[in-house]
Amino acid sequence: MKGSMRLQTEVLIIGGGATGVGIARDLSLRGIPSLLIEREDFLSGASGRNHGLFHSGGRYVVSDPEAARECIAENRILRKIVPHCIEETDGLFVSLPEDSLDFRDRFIQACEEADIPAYLLSRDHVLSLEPELNPDLLSAVNVPDGAIDPFELVLANAKDAENRGAKFLLHSEVTSILVEGDRVKNILAKNTLHGEEYLIEASYLINAAGAWADRLLKLAGLRMAMALSKGSMLITNQRLANRVINRCRPPSDGDIIVPNHTVSILGTTSVRLEDLEHFEVTPQEVSLLIEETSKMLPAIEETRLIRAYAGIRPLFQSEGKGDDRAISRGFVLIDHEKRDGIRNLITITGGKLVTYRLMAEKTSDLLCRKMGTDLPCSTHLKPIPAMDAPSNLKDRLKASGEAEILCDCELVRTDEVEKILKEGGVKDLQDILHRTRLAKGTCQGGFCIYRLLGILNEMGLAEGDSNKILRGFLEERWKGIRPVLWGSSIKEEELIESIYKGIFNL
Ligand SMILES: Cc1cc2nc3c(=O)[nH]c(=O)nc-3n(C[C@H](O)[C@H](O)[C@H](O)COP(=O)(O)OP(=O)(O)OC[C@H]3O[C@@H](n4cnc5c(N)ncnc54)[C@H](O)[C@@H]3O)c2cc1C
Repeated sequence: MKGSMRLQTEVLIIGGGATGVGIARDLSLRGIPSLLIEREDFLSGASGRNHGLFHSGGRYVVSDPEAARECIAENRILRKIVPHCIEETDGLFVSLPEDSLDFRDRFIQACEEADIPAYLLSRDHVLSLEPELNPDLLSAVNVPDGAIDPFELVLANAKDAENRGAKFLLHSEVTSILVEGDRVKNILAKNTLHGEEYLIEASYLINAAGAWADRLLKLAGLRMAMALSKGSMLITNQRLANRVINRCRPPSDGDIIVPNHTVSILGTTSVRLEDLEHFEVTPQEVSLLIEETSKMLPAIEETRLIRAYAGIRPLFQSEGKGDDRAISRGFVLIDHEKRDGIRNLITITGGKLVTYRLMAEKTSDLLCRKMGTDLPCSTHLKPIPAMDAPSNLKDRLKASGEAEILCDCELVRTDEVEKILKEGGVKDLQDILHRTRLAKGTCQGGFCIYRLLGILNEMGLAEGDSNKILRGFLEERWKGIRPVLWGSSIKEEELIESIYKGIFNL
């Protein structure tokens, strides 16, 4: 197309979430060149908006044993290749007086069959491990759940892939896919920040666009049946338990509490959705999450919530399943040659963060078969180097030394942020927040974002009106704070408001 920048690659991957980035790394290890295109930044989809539960498979073991087996197999592999992204907390499946002990027994049996190490703990023993748990609980089953940092996981994968030759084109949205005969001929994309257009030719196209997978296929005149399910989560201002706490009952709303660095994340809900771009956490969801999770940890009722957020699960819809919780959390890999006669197109969607590597392996295997090569996968063997700045607070405390601190809650150093800015590639404020722990702590950016803007200004990086950037950030932040605004949260919000009014002399 006239005026468009022309790009060429062997494999074009659409989607900069865990799956797309995982595929880029897998292919780079096999020596296959790829370009990944993402309409916003890495982690803009479900990969940056999930619960962070490092599944053992326990959650699905009764309802979906196949998905559970995938989880435990990947759980074992990821502990070896990305230990820096995982906190090995273990998880408890807690039975309350209203829960069926028959289900608990079925759960233990199913764990045994799926090779998930599970053992029963008495009430007293559990309470000695997690004193905040409801003292009326009957028992708990211990499984190898944990907490995973999706940000570090995706960024470390991307960095390693890039070091091995993979290319990334961020802030660029695929707007059209041209199919000629039995092949995708090229795709058009547009930079979402400055409007530049790209015409990209690729021998193979991989659609790893998560919840947007069907929308992408529509551009090529194809469709797939997907159910979109919104899941909402709440963040508490402190870490309430050291283990993952699950309710020992069939998967339902508000039955998991995951520790995440210094806070706990309460979740989730499951609400059918049509609009992928405009969704929010409703007051009903907030009430439901507090009501349900506080049955396991009563302290939640008195705890200050610092933010609510939601993500969208792309669930592959097979016929006749009305309830979204009954749809498999397994993944779908579509060879469009077999399904639609398009030889160079593959779609991968669904699954879990914890199965991202397996999804990438299966996709890359299929691609290799199409290419007529048998280059083997090695992602299960090759550890992924950690990012320069550690993500957990203990290590950041050690690393902070005499350095100037930009974010006090999460101990993010000024030089850490300056380094990222100097490396380039960061296009807006959100990109910085994806790459550091900045604004992820209890003040949610209230004390550090204006300092960051100062740095951006000093480095000449705040293009145009920096008040506009700040307003954009505060409005986005407000969306997450508004649903949890009562009691002590209001006091905190008034404090932040007065800080900003003071600084800007409003
Ligand atoms: C509420 C919720 C809770 C969850 N909790 C957990 C959990 O605790 N543990 C776990 O293991 N898993 C969990 N998951 C699942 C996990 O988050 C997802 O399986 C995983 O993140 C999917 O990654 P992905 O790369 O396939 O999709 P995404 O991360 O959604 O990436 C798709 C990307 O495609 C991009 N894109 C879309 N259209 C275009 C276009 N036209 N051009 C260019 N780019 C485009 C999007 O911007 C997006 O970044 C949860 C999911 C949700 C929603």
